[in-house]
Amino acid sequence: MGNFSFSSALCPMGNSHQSQRARRHADEYKGTWSRSNDYEWGYTRDTGPENWWVHYPSAGGRKQSPIDINPEVAEFDSDLVVAPLKLQYSRAREEKLMHNTGATCAVRILNSESYATGGPLGSHKYTLREFHFHWGDSNQCGSEHTVRGKAYSAELHLVHWNSDAYNTFEEAQEKDDGLLVVAIFIQCCNSSNQGLEYLVQFLTDIPYKGQATELSSEFDLNHLLPVDTSKYWVYEGSMTTPPCHESVTWLIFYDPLKITGDELSLFRTLNCYGVNEDRPILDEHYGRILKNYRPTQPLGSRVIRAAEPNFMTHKDFHQQFHSQALFTTFPEIKGQFNRQGIK
Ligand SMILES: [Zn+2]
Repeated sequence: MGNFSFSSALCPMGNSHQSQRARRHADEYKGTWSRSNDYEWGYTRDTGPENWWVHYPSAGGRKQSPIDINPEVAEFDSDLVVAPLKLQYSRAREEKLMHNTGATCAVRILNSESYATGGPLGSHKYTLREFHFHWGDSNQCGSEHTVRGKAYSAELHLVHWNSDAYNTFEEAQEKDDGLLVVAIFIQCCNSSNQGLEYLVQFLTDIPYKGQATELSSEFDLNHLLPVDTSKYWVYEGSMTTPPCHESVTWLIFYDPLKITGDELSLFRTLNCYGVNEDRPILDEHYGRILKNYRPTQPLGSRVIRAAEPNFMTHKDFHQQFHSQALFTTFPEIKGQFNRQGIK
């Protein structure tokens, strides 16, 4: 489990295979999560989502994400069933680097052979570029999307770009049909998803912004998917972080992954500043990435499509999911929900 950093101070141009590879991709990496020199966006009072639109005008648009999902207004789209979604995630030969970006923990897929097609994408192929997480300062919040106003404990985003239509991710991210983000809810309980259990052990390797560590090439991305990938919602929206381009087809799975409270708390140990930087003074989170989710944005005139007809016929399905199935699977959280008056 190697540990290295893009900071030359931490990694003084050593000759290790890992650090060379990290340096080779450092510029590209910085471009992905670029922040303008005069404004560092983040999730504190000063740097948070309420002010992003001032520096990133797209953030004030009408197709912003995340949103609250009301299953009752989602419209079943038979086209999504006729050409089923296919997530073809490679099992080998890809290099995977986990980064502390200062805003999240992100795993960059190098030489990606993983892609999505079918479903809302038709015959287009969208290549997987990276995945990252959003979480909260308690186990009762953290997801960006919500369902009937209720948040999950965290949310996983698998970011794909339209490699059929565009040459690079940078080009695609500004186009209407440029990006696909597959979102998977994560719920705190007393057991854990196999893929998440593997990933969280690397978080202690990257406490500071700019640090990175290499995952085993054998890590199987399929372990991060819910069992049932046929049930999902689709809508047109935006990146949930600056520059908030309205270029994202969102695909949100109905079924959540599981994670334990101890594992979830490891995400909150990450710092939003570099190892050689001073802790931000005006930071009510003391420099920790305690919460990194954007509040939900207005749906407006947009339509949420569903890939499963029962969303229409069983309008109380999700209510049942929360009140019965969820509590059967995760009995220890029932008390918390009841204390909040949610039955
Ligand atoms: Zn995200």
